[in-house]
Amino acid sequence: MKAIVFEKIQQLRIHEKPIPTLTTGDVLIEIELCGICASDLAALRGDVSDYAPPVVMGHELAGIVVESRHPDVKIGERVTVNPMLSCGVCPECQNDLDKYCNTIAGIGHDIDGGYAEYMRMPKHGVDTGKLIRVPDSVPPEELLFLEPLGCCLNAMQETLFKNSVAILGAGPIGLIFTQLAKRAGLTTYLLEPLAHRRAVAETLGADLTFDTSSEAIAQFQDITHGGVDTVISSTTNKASVIALAFELVRRGGCVNFFGLAPDGETLNINLEELHYAGHKLMASWAFSRASLEESRQLLIEKALNFEPLLTDRFPIEQGLAAFDNAGAGLGVKTVVHP
Ligand SMILES: [Zn+2]
Ligand SMILES: [Zn+2]
Repeated sequence: MKAIVFEKIQQLRIHEKPIPTLTTGDVLIEIELCGICASDLAALRGDVSDYAPPVVMGHELAGIVVESRHPDVKIGERVTVNPMLSCGVCPECQNDLDKYCNTIAGIGHDIDGGYAEYMRMPKHGVDTGKLIRVPDSVPPEELLFLEPLGCCLNAMQETLFKNSVAILGAGPIGLIFTQLAKRAGLTTYLLEPLAHRRAVAETLGADLTFDTSSEAIAQFQDITHGGVDTVISSTTNKASVIALAFELVRRGGCVNFFGLAPDGETLNINLEELHYAGHKLMASWAFSRASLEESRQLLIEKALNFEPLLTDRFPIEQGLAAFDNAGAGLGVKTVVHP
């Protein structure tokens, strides 16, 4: 089978690999689609270190079970995965904080993931509830968003909200946040330099969108009378974005630095200023089992619109072009298919 292998920083290759063989309890998934995540791009750039190359990347996958050695899993079921395989017994795992487990193995990070024709889900993952099944009414084009939506739902639960929110970045995550913010009844502003992405945000219900020019920011501050209650930064948190977040939030408001940061980026804050500004600073990342289950339910209910998000498809053979496409911010979500 063909697979996209992350070999080392700045090195991605298409490989011919044997179809994974199963042992007792394992499941073989034939991949239908797999989304390219910003974290995959960051790993390739060397900005994040939680990947263990060489590995087949890809954790936003949709597929069909084609072989099962597990008594609870049937051939033909449409599935995705909770990509964080953890021990299942430590206090973190017992409290649905699997991401803080000391023995985590990430699908598409440490063990082979979805940028391939087939993927093996190990018995341990099935036994700990990490194989997620959906009815056939959820097409792969929507199922691949189960994990990103789960990340956003987790963040929505953690973030402090009042009436208004500004979302930085209209990538797939920012556009999911836009829809969740509107569902939560918030006045939703979106800031994004790329016009084609702002246009999508408008079709998905953003009340107002802005580019990030100084004129646009001045206009934003006028309209919001000095800032919004909440800022969610769902773009790369480089210095200019961090500064922008503080320009957009009102005194006493909350900033959630959801996006990844470039390697070595720091937050420099004068504590006395922070004290009197009363800002609530936080970060949310990844998902919980509960947020993935909520995500699954929303997909089944067709509560969100993913159609304008899935813009660019590439076969595995053109995996390098797919990564270039995603890295350049072309379209919105780039996906890979066998
Ligand atoms: Zn992801
Ligand atoms: Zn654990």
